[in-house]
Amino acid sequence: MYKSNRKIAVVGAGSVGASVAYALAVSGLASELVLVDVNFAKAEGEAMDLAHAAAFIKPVNIYAGTFDDCRDAGIVIFSAGANQKPGETRLDLLQKNYAILRESLSKLRHGSNDSIFLIVSNPVDVLTYAAWKITGLPPGRVFGSGTVLDSSRFRHSLSRHCGVAPRNIHAYVVGEHGDSEVLLWSLAYIAGISVGRYCELAGIPPVSRQEVDGRVRNAGYEIVSRKGATYYAVSLAVKRICESIIRDENTILTVSGLVSGAYGIGDCSLSLPAVVNSKGRGSPLELPLSGEEEEALRRSAKILKAAIKQINM
Ligand code: NAD
Repeated sequence: MYKSNRKIAVVGAGSVGASVAYALAVSGLASELVLVDVNFAKAEGEAMDLAHAAAFIKPVNIYAGTFDDCRDAGIVIFSAGANQKPGETRLDLLQKNYAILRESLSKLRHGSNDSIFLIVSNPVDVLTYAAWKITGLPPGRVFGSGTVLDSSRFRHSLSRHCGVAPRNIHAYVVGEHGDSEVLLWSLAYIAGISVGRYCELAGIPPVSRQEVDGRVRNAGYEIVSRKGATYYAVSLAVKRICESIIRDENTILTVSGLVSGAYGIGDCSLSLPAVVNSKGRGSPLELPLSGEEEEALRRSAKILKAAIKQINM
């Protein structure tokens, strides 16, 4: 029987890292939760604050640690680095966050382990590719949160329009977690029928694709312009990914990882639906897309490949 390693390390205990740790602590998934940050006091403060929930959550050892403490973790989550400031794109963060990723991985790599590396920092697709290259691990063991969050935003928007619970809506966002992401309308289904047909049957107006697309694509900017950062929804997306790994669930999630050949795209990291389980991320599923969607996906890959070139990978 599969026995999971329930130790989880979170590198970068800022807004995202601390929220991830909170979501994981409440979930009861982890047996051990180590927080690592260049600002050790910050990691320590967050760990203390979370650990004091001991009487209200399932047993979990939460503490601030060093990179050495990450080596025997089942999952190492990377959420260190700068976040978007108003008006900045995710790709604008590349040089700064790549330097932090490279430095962190050089400290994490010593000593062998079977960790799965889960990248959350932006630009998540490019950093995922870089992490895979730097670690030399099998691609299934190094992947990013990708568009798991964006797919949830898509389902939320459809849910509001259609009056159906998001859990009963299948809809994916693929490609870059960023400006060039692609909403797969051709694969958006409610109760086994297309969203368009569902609206007809339910007697409600058709969904405005343009409106939903804008809301999903610009969600990050909208939140950053109001509160300066986004962290709650992404932390639950990360918790969902960890759950799928620890419980060996075989969940289909739009995580970001190496693509080598699907849709004619190669040597690049981006999001496509893939099975996630205790081994990590399976090969991306090459689902039937519309011609327009395939084209948009290849455009997204082109943008990401250009960004990869900027870090000489
Ligand atoms: P933040 O500024 O609140 O936290 C970043 C933390 O990283 C800080 O505590 C800082 O001390 C730490 N750090 C910096 N350099 C480090 C190093 N070398 N080693 C260890 N820790 C280091 O930022 P945030 O809001 O938590 O965002 C973190 C990252 O997550 C950003 O890149 C942001 O864009 C990204 N993000 C991704 C998604 C997603 O869906 N993938 C969503 C939201 C935010």
